[in-house]
Amino acid sequence: MIKTFTFNPLSENTHVVWCNETLNAAIVDAGMYDRSECEQIRNFISENNLELQYLLGTHAHIDHIFGNWWIRQEFPDVPYFLHQEDIPMIERSETMAALWSLNYTPSMQPNNYINHGDRITLGNIELDVRFVPGHSPGHVIFVNFNENWAIVGDTVFQGSIGRTDLPGGNHELLLNKIRTEIFTLPETMQLLPGHGPNTNVAFEKNQNPFFN
Ligand SMILES: [Zn+2]
Ligand SMILES: [Zn+2]
Repeated sequence: MIKTFTFNPLSENTHVVWCNETLNAAIVDAGMYDRSECEQIRNFISENNLELQYLLGTHAHIDHIFGNWWIRQEFPDVPYFLHQEDIPMIERSETMAALWSLNYTPSMQPNNYINHGDRITLGNIELDVRFVPGHSPGHVIFVNFNENWAIVGDTVFQGSIGRTDLPGGNHELLLNKIRTEIFTLPETMQLLPGHGPNTNVAFEKNQNPFFN
């Protein structure tokens, strides 16, 4: 099961993933920016009796980690998983916040690094990790083959792709990785991006102007 919230001044999608049988849950990209957005996550978890097991990061741009400090405070035992190549993004976040006049409480460092080919288990749910750098150097996506969806962060959006003008970005690499790691997923698979509406593999293969 998956529920998506849209948070913070950059309209970032934060996802809660859980197993209906065991109620084990993970948050993917904690973008909560203010008290009311943190409350929405707290209420959703408690109303559904979920047990939070992991905080997972697709990547560590500031809009995807605004709420990390709150997760560490509220759920001190929940480990944070991120690809090692995105550590510099955490370190750059205070500078980015100042540049964009955004409030930012520093994120914790990851407890574990995740890599291409890893599988994260939440009760009966399996999330396969694929490495899709280019928007950021350590960007990963989380694929749930059983429920036919993938959380793709800022790699591909409905009719667009992630920006590559930020430090560590690489346009050609991003295009190649979308082709080899996302367009090879089942055509009907739903894609849940880090911004904007959901899409699917067939639509992006056929309609996305960056590939046509
Ligand atoms: Zn990003
Ligand atoms: Zn983003």
